[in-house]
Amino acid sequence: MSIYDLTREELENFFVEHGDKTFRANQVFKWIYEKRILNYDEVTDIKKETIELLKQELPIKRVKLIKVERDKDVNKYLFELEDMEHIEAVLMKHDYGNSICVSSQVGCNMGCKFCESGRRKKVRNLKSGEIVSQVLEVEKDIKTRISHVVMMGIGEPFDNYEEIIKFIKTINDPKGLAIGSRHITVSTSGIIPKIKEFSNLDLQVNLAISLHAPNDSLRSSIMPINKAYPLKDLMKEIKKYLEKTNRRVTFEYVLLKNINDTDECAKELANLIKGINCYVNLIPYNETENIEYERSNMFQIMKFYDILKKENINVTIRKEFGSQISAACGQLRSKKEVQ
Ligand code: SAH
Ligand code: SF4
Repeated sequence: MSIYDLTREELENFFVEHGDKTFRANQVFKWIYEKRILNYDEVTDIKKETIELLKQELPIKRVKLIKVERDKDVNKYLFELEDMEHIEAVLMKHDYGNSICVSSQVGCNMGCKFCESGRRKKVRNLKSGEIVSQVLEVEKDIKTRISHVVMMGIGEPFDNYEEIIKFIKTINDPKGLAIGSRHITVSTSGIIPKIKEFSNLDLQVNLAISLHAPNDSLRSSIMPINKAYPLKDLMKEIKKYLEKTNRRVTFEYVLLKNINDTDECAKELANLIKGINCYVNLIPYNETENIEYERSNMFQIMKFYDILKKENINVTIRKEFGSQISAACGQLRSKKEVQ
């Protein structure tokens, strides 16, 4: 357990359980998230016994930064966890601010065929504090605030639901990291029951769905999760989410050469999502050493884009970050492991 694992509300409960007042949580949050202390001895306005209690029960423990690769507009961070597992985060410098992509699990059980992270089965979920401290360590490194957070690193966030919700609450908390909910995005491969729960929370954060195929047979062949939660049910749940939240959903679509990038796929995709308040993010595939899929060529990517545009679908092609330093999902970790 670390102090970063607790939302402010949970910390309030902790103090009440220990015969103290709820406002103590505000005081502690100020030291932890505003002053960013790394040692409780720096605290000046809380009595000694309480500090001892915090040291014992809720130590200030972060993930350990062990390597950074830097490029022009992207940094890639490798972290070591207490049990010596490794995870990564990627910082992207946009003109609108700094955006971080964080990991939510060690490995991933969804087994998407094109994904490096999915090649390794889930070892364990990250605690919310291990996700929060990825953001803190990157901010410490760049000495600047991060304005946007995407949960698109290693892992399936909705397979670690409780902890990622706590993470979102802490980074969104005005007394925590104060990152606006509209600047936070959760990406999921489509775990329907969790999309439902998420809609009911009314958190106002963005939801992105990894679609990657316009029909069940193709989607099941590259994303095994589709067998459990097929497209028809997934689209139904997304429509409910949109009705309930009045928001827009993002569909991510990785373009794999000759697999899901044909003109027919583009037309079928347009039909599937017509009338849904969404936008489509086309992602040029980052090729990896261990997987045979290839990136579509630029001509086909543009053609795919044009077909969707003509059908009046909001579509963008993802700006490319970090293919030089292999900043695609899971690549740094797997490189570390073969060293
Ligand atoms: N598990 C969640 C979030 C992490 S993956 C999900 O699947 O949505 C984040 C995104 O990166 C997903 O859309 C995923 O399909 C995509 N991705 C995985 N490997 C990739 C690669 N090699 N190149 C480009 N995008 C990739
Ligand atoms: Fe897991 Fe997402 Fe990779 Fe699929 S794409 S294996 S869900 S991390």
